[in-house]
Amino acid sequence: MAIRTIITPENPLLRKRALRVTDFGSGFQTLIDDMVETMLDAPGVGLAAPQVAMPQRMFVARLPDDEEAKKEYGKLAGVLFVFANPELIKVSKEKVEGVEACLSIPGYAGKVDRYERIVIKGQDRHGKEFRVKADGWLARVFQHELDHLDGRLYIDIAKEVWEQKPDEEQVAE
Ligand code: ZN
Repeated sequence: MAIRTIITPENPLLRKRALRVTDFGSGFQTLIDDMVETMLDAPGVGLAAPQVAMPQRMFVARLPDDEEAKKEYGKLAGVLFVFANPELIKVSKEKVEGVEACLSIPGYAGKVDRYERIVIKGQDRHGKEFRVKADGWLARVFQHELDHLDGRLYIDIAKEVWEQKPDEEQVAE
């Protein structure tokens, strides 16, 4: 495994619409493993393939598994999600405001409205279809990563963006 470089908006690849994953072979397996390592090293709770300059519809995500996360997310805390060709198939009427940061935009955070609850489907690392019902922070992370696959960044839709203070803690994705 290897840690890959996370690109920033200066690199136009971050703004490209990513292509569907069709090859689940060894190159794709390596990309997944590298992205998981890169995400955990950053550290972040999500990472989309375009962020490591790979224009493919794929992201990885993992919420922390500390006590607080376990209380709130139960068995979804600490679960590693790998989504290829993800699609939202159901969203709540309500959106909720929350704070987000992005590994591709270090040092900043912003307020973004996201669907409170979603059902998302996709393929796992071997191409097998699955779906996940998510709410709260996990639903937010999934929506943030989905946007990356269409070249969209949270700063495009944020109601407010600010530079983080050194002591401000915000997990990025
Ligand atoms: Zn991001």
